[in-house]
Amino acid sequence: MNTKTTILTGDRPTGPLHLGHYVGSLRQRVALQQDYQQFVLVADLQGLTDNGSNPQKIRDNIPEVLADYLAAGIDPDLTTICLQSALPALAELTMLYMNIVTVARVERNPTVKNEIAQKGFARSLPAGFLVYPISQAADITAFKAEVVPVGDDQLPMIEQTNEIVHKMNSLLPAPVLRHCKAMLSDTSRLPGVDGNAKMSKSLGNTLHLSASEETIHRVVSAMYTDPNHLKVSDPGQVEGNVVFTYLDAFHADKAKVAAMKAHYQQGGLGDRTCKNELEVCLQELIAPMRERRATYIQDKSQLMAMLKNGSERAHELTQATLKEVKQGLGVPVF
Ligand code: ATP
Ligand code: MG
Repeated sequence: MNTKTTILTGDRPTGPLHLGHYVGSLRQRVALQQDYQQFVLVADLQGLTDNGSNPQKIRDNIPEVLADYLAAGIDPDLTTICLQSALPALAELTMLYMNIVTVARVERNPTVKNEIAQKGFARSLPAGFLVYPISQAADITAFKAEVVPVGDDQLPMIEQTNEIVHKMNSLLPAPVLRHCKAMLSDTSRLPGVDGNAKMSKSLGNTLHLSASEETIHRVVSAMYTDPNHLKVSDPGQVEGNVVFTYLDAFHADKAKVAAMKAHYQQGGLGDRTCKNELEVCLQELIAPMRERRATYIQDKSQLMAMLKNGSERAHELTQATLKEVKQGLGVPVF
């Protein structure tokens, strides 16, 4: 019997993965895959909730995300990579959960509220987008996942999932669904390269895991620092200074970063020197991923075959959970 704790995470195939994914979730998935039973879901149906008129974008980005996973070190022998739309149990559980969640509750979800405002939906808000946290609860619970390594934008989703677990279990003769908890990394929200609060595909402020050497150079050179730090000798601010936030997130030598911060605050350390230090460290991090990714993306049919394989494995498990829930609710299972 498998006694390992189950992890589920996922990404929307809305574009190539970026450094926010890497520090917020991907790096942890790579570290945890040996010791946990891990599933990674390519959330194409969720991707469609705000791309309903552009399904081609979602379709095209599936292999891109798969190549990023492999390049970052996800091992398909240790982690089951599967596709949301290939697992009908997830959609069926969503239908069942939608009846026990109020519209007022979904409207209160702060991440969704923020995204609706950001995307300027107003009255054109797709119904599917409003309820995507319910479908995410279906994803997590179908796998009986107990640990979810995510960025902090996902905390309201985990909270809502646990409310659904509690409510649904109370309707069943014996509990079927498991409660889950978020696992946050040291950098649970990486700001965008423009200094905006979150690096996000939708905000166009990303640095991809496949970024070219020139792009990395250009992006780091243009990075936001302390606008009042005009002369090298001026004392500078490290809070809200994206270069230092990134040095904290990516530089391996914490003592060196601490010394740089002290020097910067005191005055005498220039932005150019700090940016050079950051650029070297990002070039070193991204180069091997970019190279591996270039090889994987050449064979998209092999990537899709890997996804099919993982989806077949996940199908069995998710169907079993659906069956338990239906039986508990008294829905006939033929
Ligand atoms: P989109 O704009 O299409 O929503 P996204 O860039 O927000 O894309 P998602 O696919 O929604 O990416 O997020 C996948 C996972 O990566 C989630 O666990 C999320 O918390 C994490 N993540 C995304 N961006 C960041 C970030 N800037 N910092 C930390 N974690 C992040
Ligand atoms: Mg997102």
